[in-house]
Formats: sequence, structure tokens, C-alpha cells
Amino acid sequence: MDATPPKTRPPRIAIIGEAMIELSPTGPDSARIGVAGDTFNTAVYLSRLLQGTGATVSYVTLVGDDRQSDRIVSALTDEGIETSLAARLPGAMPGLYMIELDAAGERSFSYWRSDSAARRLFAPGTPVQPDALRDFDIIVLSAISLAIISPEARDRLHDWAQGFRKGGGQVAFDSNYRPRLWPDPETARSEVARFWAITDIALPSVDDEMALFGDADAGAVMARLAQWGVQMGAMKRGAEGPVALDGTGQVLAVAPVEKVVDTTAAGDSFNAGFLAAWLRGGSVGESMAAGHALAARVIGHKGAILPKPD
Ligand code: ADP
Repeated sequence: MDATPPKTRPPRIAIIGEAMIELSPTGPDSARIGVAGDTFNTAVYLSRLLQGTGATVSYVTLVGDDRQSDRIVSALTDEGIETSLAARLPGAMPGLYMIELDAAGERSFSYWRSDSAARRLFAPGTPVQPDALRDFDIIVLSAISLAIISPEARDRLHDWAQGFRKGGGQVAFDSNYRPRLWPDPETARSEVARFWAITDIALPSVDDEMALFGDADAGAVMARLAQWGVQMGAMKRGAEGPVALDGTGQVLAVAPVEKVVDTTAAGDSFNAGFLAAWLRGGSVGESMAAGHALAARVIGHKGAILPKPD
């Protein structure tokens, strides 16, 4: 008699991080209000890509109880993202940033995020603790998610994630490096290093890794990550195309994008495309191609988020 195939249910994915209010200029004295953040961008694209598959994409964060926090929760739910772990912290507010354009059209950013609700994620006594993630199949986070939470919260998440992995859970990690969010580079290095050591799906960018760890080139980054136990994922290398982190060194040859309009969310959207394809059973090569296909569209468009498909 044939063995009964194992019952597979659609994956449950938790994306952990901070969504912020974004002000982007529409004129010298006016701005458009949006919602943005690296993990938020990934959540939006992953939710779109997995629509109709039965998969659940949840966003895990803390927001406040003000109108701007409502805006963030609405932006998530409008994209089909589950928000039961986007919990409210009474009296708190979300972070805010403003994009400014200089005379040459170059973008710069001003942030008001040092006291945001999301910074208290996983802190003792707050509504969302790491164990709330136990029923997920995969958790997705970035080094920005790590940088904004407290050292104690990072410890708690790291300890918890080790047990989660023993139980079959998977961790996906992108070492998005923002020096200003860390007290010093040493802290960033030690935190990112210990999260690489518990990562199942690695999604770094070569620039971030070289800036943080001082590697000589992409090969050195790959050798170091492999030594730290990374066995699966892809490293983003801009126009050079991604390279697999599964030990094969397989490179995805990419055609140069004709007109790069805005590289915001290139890496975030790549991560979503990669993960969606991987979760659907794609190979590393197919997943890199899916990540690139989405990122190539995103960089041809102004802003992080493409218009919602009908
Ligand atoms: P990050 O934004 O994290 O630094 P990258 O700049 O490496 O990430 O971009 C992510 C992905 O977007 C790349 O792996 C590649 O697939 C695609 N990409 C980015 N820039 C270009 C480009 N100029 N031409 C073609 N593809 C690009």
C-alpha cells in the first residue's frame, strides 16, 4: 500500500520589525504621508506574492494607540497582512522619517524614531514576547529589527529562536546595516554574527556585509558566512546579480535594468520574491530569479511599493 503523503499546510510566516510613517516631498513645502520600513516592504510584497496560496503573512511589531499607528495597521491589513501581533502600546507612537531632496534630486533622510513603540518589542512586560511566535513556520527579520530593540530583547529573541529551530522552525535574516542605529560597530558585528549562526535562509547584501565585517570581496563574505553555518539563501550584489549561499556559488546572470529610477526597497523586495518562490518549493536558482524579477521592477519605479495589482 502506498504511504499516505505527509499533510502539508500552507506556511505561516512572521515578519518582525518596525513600520514607520514616511513623509516624502511632493513640493518645496508639502509631503505625502506613507508607511515604510525594510521589513514592512518585504511583508507587503510577500503577502501579494502568496495571495491565494493559503499562506499567512503576519507582521510582528509594537505600535501606539494614536492615529498614525492606526494608519500603519490599516496599511498592513489593506495588503492582506495579519496584524494580531502588531500590538498596541498605550500612549506610545510610531517612528517617523522624512525624505528630503537636494537641488540635484539626491535623497537624504531625517528620522524621529528613537522613542518609537517598536523599540520596546520583546521587552519584559510588553504585549508581544518571542514565544508568541511559536506557531509560525518561519520568522523573517533584519539587522534593523535587531538594532532598534533593546539588548535584553535581542537576547530573549536569540535564545527563543534556538528552541524554535530545534522544533523545525526556520529563521530568515537580512543583515541590513544602518550604522546610526547601533551604539558602535562592535555591537553590530557581534549581534549580526550570532544571528547568522542561527539563520536558515540568509539574505544579505554584499555591501552591508563588507561594510560591517571588512571582508575583502564577495568571496570572502561567502566563505565567512559558510564558516558560521549558513547553508542556504542568496547574497544580493546589485547589478551583478545574486549569488546562492548554498555552497554551490551559483550566480544568477541578470540583464542590467535599463532605467533605474529609485533603488529604495530593492533588497527588501528581492527578499520577498526569493522567499515566496522558496516557500512554494522552488530551487535556489528559481528563488533568486523570482527575487530579482521583482526587485528589477521595484527599482524602475519611484518609491518602495509598486502600485497594488488589481
Ligand atoms: P540592497 O538594496 O539590499 O543593497 P541590491 O542593491 O543588491 O540590494 O539589490 C537587490 C537586488 O535588486 C539585486 O540582487 C538585483 O537582483 C536587483 N538589482 C539592484 N540593482 C540592480 C541593477 N542596477 N540592475 C539589475 N538588477 C539590480
